[in-house]
Amino acid sequence: MDPILNFIDGAFVAPIAGAYLDNHGPRDGHILGKIADSSAADVDAAVAAAKRAFPKWKALTRAERSGFLHRIADLIESRLESFAEAESLDQGKPIHLARQIDIPRAIENFRFFAGAILHQQEKAFQSSAHILNFTRRDPMGVAGLISPWNLPLYLLTWKIAPALATGNTVVAKPSELTSLTASMLAKVMVDAGLPTGVCNMVFGRGASAGDALVGHPDVPLISFTGGTATAAAIGKRAAPLYKKLSLELGGKNPALIFADCDLEAAVNTSVRSSFTNQGEICLCTSRLLIQEDIFDRFAELFVEKVKALKVGDPRSEESFMGALVSSDHRQKVMGFVERARAQGLSVLAGGTSLTLEGELSDGYYYSPTVLVAPDTSAEIMQQEVFGPVVTLTPFKDYSDAITKANSTRYGLACTIWTKNLDTAHQAAADIDAGLVWVNTWMQRDLRTPFGGMKDSGVGREGGDHSLDFYTEEKNICLQLSASKA
Ligand code: NAD
Repeated sequence: MDPILNFIDGAFVAPIAGAYLDNHGPRDGHILGKIADSSAADVDAAVAAAKRAFPKWKALTRAERSGFLHRIADLIESRLESFAEAESLDQGKPIHLARQIDIPRAIENFRFFAGAILHQQEKAFQSSAHILNFTRRDPMGVAGLISPWNLPLYLLTWKIAPALATGNTVVAKPSELTSLTASMLAKVMVDAGLPTGVCNMVFGRGASAGDALVGHPDVPLISFTGGTATAAAIGKRAAPLYKKLSLELGGKNPALIFADCDLEAAVNTSVRSSFTNQGEICLCTSRLLIQEDIFDRFAELFVEKVKALKVGDPRSEESFMGALVSSDHRQKVMGFVERARAQGLSVLAGGTSLTLEGELSDGYYYSPTVLVAPDTSAEIMQQEVFGPVVTLTPFKDYSDAITKANSTRYGLACTIWTKNLDTAHQAAADIDAGLVWVNTWMQRDLRTPFGGMKDSGVGREGGDHSLDFYTEEKNICLQLSASKA
């Protein structure tokens, strides 16, 4: 495979220092190719290109920018299968998931914001007969976009699409673990005729390329999706520069399973919400809190289904789970499970690395794992694992459920399972989470606010929230001349 080069000013260019990283494929552990290991000098070149392109891009009409976004969406759609293959190869996820979720959602991100920008509204305030206040929203300049490895193209385009739609130019820094589809997206930008310099991509590590982007004086806003600890470093770097920040971070998402729920639906959806994409979705359930009256029955049904999940070749249509993203990440997941065992938690399913046969023997596979945690004190009940590992914990009554659900520093997402509307409403209000699903999971409407509370994030993206984040609002107060009457 050709090395993944930076995409700057419309051209694919080698990193200035000539350094590269190895890109390991999770499926078989083999090296897929090389990725530019960019430095601050590469970031400088990308930001300079984006800055030059900004005045013309900003001056286009909304309809013109919308047209470019539609062209990009159409081109990704025409290459859907090769994008899905690349995402699966690079990330380890089953190809059918990439084909049905990741790539279609990337297309939808462009189409959604291509439409949304045509409907953006400003406000007017008639303060008195002769005073009119009105607002305008302008793009801010060069948007710095930093994305993680779990839903590579899906989350990168969730940032690029609104940034471009609102008239900003972009320097993106995708995860060093999953740069392949971002590089393919750069090719789409060329083929869509996007003016040079409007969208640039710098590949490489967070500590070098990412840090240089966050610290760049010509980048007034940073949208970051990734880990909570990384966000703290970004916050420290960006605060003295007064940058606008959007932080979408980790979670420790609970499912509250009340005794009066539809048990079959709760079990089936909880299996999906726990293990889809190897549990590597920030919205995945990681703590199942189950009312004690149904705990044993739920655990029995849940574990039976988990044991039947097929972990296998990401290329196979039969695999429910593929490989974890990297050897280091698998090591991290294993460490959490081993320490939980040492703390006395029992393992009902999984808890082991898997060695598949033949060419897959060096891949990073791990079994879907279920532990019982009697209370919320264990490390695994407090720290994000971000892998195929969940805990089952009983709760006594409503107030015990809410106390346990809110017992972590995170507040991203939650699912509530009950047939009682009052319980659902009350729990939705009492839970510390930016996103609450009742009797379902992962239903997304791109107009709705997306983001976490507590250590799970700062700010919201989606719909108007993204249009607001990527623009600066200005109020204009106008003195009108006295009436002629
Ligand atoms: P990470 O924080 O290690 O890396 C994310 C990105 O930040 C990567 O591109 C990385 O290179 C870059 N980065 C790392 N250090 C940096 C620095 N000092 N300055 C600038 N950039 C830096 O996260 P990850 O391991 O790639 O992703 C997993 C995390 O992302 C999990 O915590 C998960 O919950 C979270 N996540 C959150 C959401 C959400 O929407 N809330 C979505 C997906 C993933």
